[in-house]
Amino acid sequence: MKQRRILTGDRPTGRLHLGHYVGSIANRVKLQREYECAFIIADLHTLTTRPGKEEIGEIAENAREMVLDYLACGIDPGRSVIYLQSAVHETYELNLLFEMLVTVPRLQRLPSLKEMAKSADLTEMPFGLLGYPVLQSADILGPRAHLVPVGRDNESHVELTREIARRFNYLYGEVFPVPESLIGDVPTLVGTDGSGKMSKSLNNAILLSDEAKTVEKKVRGMYTDPNRVRADVPGRVEGNPVFIYHKTFNPNQAEVEDMADRYRKGRVGDVEVKEKLAAALNAFLEPIRERRAAAEARTGFVDEVIYEGTLKMREQQQVTLVAAKKAMGLTGVWNKISRKAEAARKKREKSA
Ligand code: ATP
Ligand code: MG
Repeated sequence: MKQRRILTGDRPTGRLHLGHYVGSIANRVKLQREYECAFIIADLHTLTTRPGKEEIGEIAENAREMVLDYLACGIDPGRSVIYLQSAVHETYELNLLFEMLVTVPRLQRLPSLKEMAKSADLTEMPFGLLGYPVLQSADILGPRAHLVPVGRDNESHVELTREIARRFNYLYGEVFPVPESLIGDVPTLVGTDGSGKMSKSLNNAILLSDEAKTVEKKVRGMYTDPNRVRADVPGRVEGNPVFIYHKTFNPNQAEVEDMADRYRKGRVGDVEVKEKLAAALNAFLEPIRERRAAAEARTGFVDEVIYEGTLKMREQQQVTLVAAKKAMGLTGVWNKISRKAEAARKKREKSA
């Protein structure tokens, strides 16, 4: 049987954080052997909110940083494809074909797009931002992926992709698998400030590449239970980001249980809970930092990984695009015209 495929990725807006890890990257690393995996550096998606030339000038360096994070987490370029979206022209074409299969109200109903517009300080929705999930559908269906490991914020976009795949197959014949999303162990990791989602743009992120001292400092500044003014005041564990991180990243869950119990009773200070968290996070991040440094030391390695991956992806998507246009009868339109034109030209040349 042909191996099933995974497609997922991230916008190259800088280094990755713990939210990316638990939302999607952990699943990617885990599934690399079972699936044929492709990871997209979604730079066209950054244009939806950051179209400036200076911002585009930052993409290459951001992409390198991000791919270093991938390699550091254990993504194996010998097994998986890592590629640059803007260099795969077939994606642009598929995007346009898919745009015909979605309605504007369907896109306007997606809360994720409104949130993105808001956090980018846009008062009006750009056409391209409204089409963000359609472009994502082209990314996913281009390599004809079956599974898409993403965080909760992207689940509705995979749902839209499923609708587009079904609609295409219904209108033109079976070309695309209907992909499923795979949500990470922590669907949405809260930020260090306790707000909804860890995000670089919200300045509440712990980066996978943060140094030990930086992690300690960020953890010391973390939001906990605001009602707890002293260590002997009973505290809330539920929804407390310090305990959420402990649950997620501390391998010693007996220690976490004990601390949670004492926290509820007002028998442990925030300082101890935070020191233990910083230690657990640093133990988790240390091997990642080491692998990152090793990959960084190899001159040109990251660029080669992206280059080779992009060439492979172009081949895959070319096959898909040809199949899609054929199924639609779009190739036929050009064929009819070009065949007649060529015949006419030949005839003319002969008689001349
Ligand atoms: P940031 O806001 O920090 O730039 P992002 O949301 O822009 O992050 P994307 O490139 O859009 O990141 O998404 C990359 C992947 O990481 C997606 O699958 C997304 O669901 C996941 N992800 C991002 N942040 C989190 C989080 N805090 N918790 C869980 N998953 C997340
Ligand atoms: Mg991002």
